[in-house]
Amino acid sequence: MLHRLKTDFRLSIITLLGGSAILGITPFAVMRFLQGNTLAGTVDAAILLGILVTLTYAWITGDTRRSGFVFAVIACSGAVAVGTVVGEPGLFWLYPCLVTTFFLANSRIAVLLNVASVVALLAHGGAFRSDVQMWSFASTAFVVSACAYVFAHRNHDQRERLEHLATIDPLTGIKNRRSMDQELDLAAANAERTGLPYALVLLDIDHFKKINDEHGHGVGDDVLTDLVALLKQNTRKSDQLFRYGGEEFVLLMLGVDGIGLKAVMNNLQQVLRKYMKHPGGSVTASFGVALLRHGESVDGWLARTDTALYEAKENGRDQVVFADAQRAPELSADTV
Ligand code: GH3
Ligand code: MG
Ligand code: MG
Repeated sequence: MLHRLKTDFRLSIITLLGGSAILGITPFAVMRFLQGNTLAGTVDAAILLGILVTLTYAWITGDTRRSGFVFAVIACSGAVAVGTVVGEPGLFWLYPCLVTTFFLANSRIAVLLNVASVVALLAHGGAFRSDVQMWSFASTAFVVSACAYVFAHRNHDQRERLEHLATIDPLTGIKNRRSMDQELDLAAANAERTGLPYALVLLDIDHFKKINDEHGHGVGDDVLTDLVALLKQNTRKSDQLFRYGGEEFVLLMLGVDGIGLKAVMNNLQQVLRKYMKHPGGSVTASFGVALLRHGESVDGWLARTDTALYEAKENGRDQVVFADAQRAPELSADTV
């Protein structure tokens, strides 16, 4: 539970607001029923019920996008209802709602909700003691909304930038190992559901340390970026390329196996042999390839790919080794 609160920002906002609203509104609901103000008590009870249902829905389904939107609508319309039925207290309740709409729904919806709530209260007019109070409310509601918008926008921006930093390799611009772990889990789940073949390729540049040592780290970096550009040009859009670490890359391919896979790998190897150059000559790479077996774990799949790569290195480098004994017998321990 704590883990979900820590990792899901919107769920934590919904929970915090829901909890505070339940604690804050319940005494008023009880008080209004006790005072015989049934209409106001019913409005409070309806808001409480709506919040409880939305909160439960968010926790059970994890669909915080929909529940955030519903929560924002309930909160704003609730504050407006209190404003029209009870009067001034509704104005105070609207302020936290104006701030939190930006954290519960997207900015456009939040702006619409805020404008609609303020305009509804202004049009009704019953919550205000004087024109001055009404226009003070309108201008302060605008300032609060504008500040909340700027803050939420910045927050969203920074979160996106952090996510980018955490998943993208800065040198080559492709996804890093962290993203790879997530994509491999997804691929394994998808393969289990659809039965589609997934191939994993582990590529390691041969004698890369020598290139660095003899020509400098900058040349080594250029080799890495050239290799990524070449791999991207020669793979399909649906194939995913990751930097596994150092001079090792992982290619995840969907929908190729058997002879097709062998042809793809042969083509990649030829392209690399032809176009990968550095000031001291050509650059070659070794490849380990494994098809995902039925029911196999991602770790097991990666380990078989790694063993195939190790074999390619042991056999003299600049070659492709397939590790799929089960699903592609003709490729078993085969090298090209
Ligand atoms: P092998 O054929 O057995 O794979 O030998 P290798 O020299 O390619 O492998 P080794 O693991 O000995 O060396 C890898 C080198 O890659 C060592 C490390 O300094 C270098 N390296 C790792 N990351 C980067 C990087 O981002 N830029 C550059 N220029 N070099 C890097
Ligand atoms: Mg290596
Ligand atoms: Mg290497």
